[in-house]
Amino acid sequence: MPRDSTDAQAILARVFGFDQFRPGQETIVDAVASGSNVLAIMPTGGGKSLCFQLPALMRPGVTLVISPLIALMRDQVRGLREAGVDAGALTSGNTQEETDAVWDALHEGRLKLLYLAPERLASVGTQRALAQAGVSMIAVDEAHCVSQWGHDFRPDYLRIGALRQNLDVPLAAFTATADAETQAEIITRLFNGQKPETFLHGFDRPNLHLAFAAKDSPRRQIMDFAAARRGQSGIVYCGTRAKTETLAKALRDDGHSACSYHGGMDADGRRDVEERFATEDGLIVVATVAFGMGVDKPDIRWVAHADLPKSIEAYYQEIGRAGRDGAPAETLTLYGTDDIRLRRSQIDESPAPPERRNADHGRLNALLGLAEALECRRKTLLAYFGEVDVPCSGCDLCDTPPKTFDGTDAVRKALSAALRTDESFGAGHLIDILLGNATEKVKKWHHDNLPTFGIGKELTRGEWQAVLRQMMGYDLMRPDADRHGALVMTETARPILRGDMRIDLRRDTIQRAKDRRPIVRALVSDDDAPLLSALKAKRRALAEAARAPAYVIFPDRTLIEMAQTRPQTLDQMTAIVGVGAKKLERYGAIFLEVITGDTPNSIHPKRRKLAGAEAGSLYDALMAAQTALHRGTCGTLKPLSCSASLLAQIAQHRPNTANTMNQMLGERRSDRFGSAFLDVVLSQP
Ligand code: ADP
Ligand code: ZN
Repeated sequence: MPRDSTDAQAILARVFGFDQFRPGQETIVDAVASGSNVLAIMPTGGGKSLCFQLPALMRPGVTLVISPLIALMRDQVRGLREAGVDAGALTSGNTQEETDAVWDALHEGRLKLLYLAPERLASVGTQRALAQAGVSMIAVDEAHCVSQWGHDFRPDYLRIGALRQNLDVPLAAFTATADAETQAEIITRLFNGQKPETFLHGFDRPNLHLAFAAKDSPRRQIMDFAAARRGQSGIVYCGTRAKTETLAKALRDDGHSACSYHGGMDADGRRDVEERFATEDGLIVVATVAFGMGVDKPDIRWVAHADLPKSIEAYYQEIGRAGRDGAPAETLTLYGTDDIRLRRSQIDESPAPPERRNADHGRLNALLGLAEALECRRKTLLAYFGEVDVPCSGCDLCDTPPKTFDGTDAVRKALSAALRTDESFGAGHLIDILLGNATEKVKKWHHDNLPTFGIGKELTRGEWQAVLRQMMGYDLMRPDADRHGALVMTETARPILRGDMRIDLRRDTIQRAKDRRPIVRALVSDDDAPLLSALKAKRRALAEAARAPAYVIFPDRTLIEMAQTRPQTLDQMTAIVGVGAKKLERYGAIFLEVITGDTPNSIHPKRRKLAGAEAGSLYDALMAAQTALHRGTCGTLKPLSCSASLLAQIAQHRPNTANTMNQMLGERRSDRFGSAFLDVVLSQP
């Protein structure tokens, strides 16, 4: 349908401000817009929301969007309204007025997208109202929440299948979870077993730099990584709640703005952190995996794992939260033998059935294989998701290929030490035997009489540790949960032991970690950096005035492009990614002014009179607040503004109470601008 796709293209540019589709988006948009049932599996940050938002604008009636997280829905609704689209949400976070307004809009047939929290589906009233509202399509975000095996299971998602049948409309399901088991479950529960059109798309995230490092002094490794990225938003994932708190404190002591987040905090505390993270520039959140699905911030510049994630899927999802805006972002994952031991025992001790535990060991193995990889991380990662021949756009192994050595001999020696001691001892004791250290423990067990005693003197203790860690990584040996981490040989190791297979190991993971100096990573060249900070400052002022997250105004990526290409006119501004018609109208001139500097003839004479005076900067701040509220906080009200002379008067007289402000503004304008202006006046010294 060529005509439809040009329509889609036009809407993409006009409403969303993007000049092209991301890989895979266009075919999905076409399928969804034409009314097919669709299951789309796209990586986090791949741009799933556009795949239902855009078709919603091409289809008649309202599209119902079911999404598990309130914060995420609110952000999307806010974003859509900024772009001039009628959207609303029904969630438990609404005030009664908000809810009424949404129902009104729905009944009047104005709404194009209605976001609904799954809990709402339990109400018969909601179901009936939806049936009358002219719903023409259902979009299900995070569709894997329907899977009872997954950790994100939402029982209310099980009601969606019946809703689809009642409303008799097409359904489009979206998820980033790629495994076949989850897919099958989605098809059964959402599509009543009838296979939808399925799209599996590009798991590569070219803007993410991938890196792993063996734990050396993990605290310092994380601190160095954060120090090299000062002022950039990031997430540090930790294995325990306690660690999130100590590490957040260490980061604060080092001058970062950082806070912790974990499932043990009360709902208010967690909401606070989510809110701060969304709105503040450059905050670091140190969190357990509880901090996750609701994080929709597109400009997270880095994700670090202070501890190894539990599987390759979890790893992919967690690093995937960085750089959703497409600008460069970095990741670092630390791992060590303790992590391997912990993750293995968590799987062994879980109440899941044995097949499930085996599968979980497999997923952990895949991640360990990635951690110990000898060649390109990206290729190794994507191969797991079934993609080959993807060129690498940045990983630690391509940056600096590791030194390897034939490890067959070392591995056989270590296996032999384990086997001769009945597979009953951990790494430390095995290394003592290999090195010929007659410790008390060695003597007690008479291990100094073994033929393996002292056969490994060619390697140092640190090198043996690296060998054993890699052996665990390749699943040649596993810590035995029932015997406090005693290392047991697995079947995978047998061909090596028999001499049928050889193996290469990395020599240098440990010592490399020590040598590496943190390189300070900048988003733009030195020349463009000052302009980028000025643009960010302007964005922050606008966001604060509108009480919205900064990226709702423009994402990092847009500002970076502005700083690099320096558009000189509004026309050139439209060519920047993320600048749609509405945003151009609201913010184009403001940002253009930052880029071109004050061009005298663009300044209002009233403002020019104030130049150099304190009132001048107050005038600018009021102007910014006014622009942000041009169509109200929700962005859907009638445009309203104050004359330049009124703004100039306020800037000079500085009314500092609600009363005096309202007197100057008059009733209609004080409704819209009063409290924001007062904030501006009171915050300017
Ligand atoms: P996810 O797939 O994780 O839900 P989102 O839908 O949140 O991803 O999109 C991630 C980011 O990519 C958002 O900031 C969005 O605005 C941006 N984006 C989506 N589609 C495009 C496009 N065609 N061009 C440029 N940016 C896009
Ligand atoms: Zn690579």
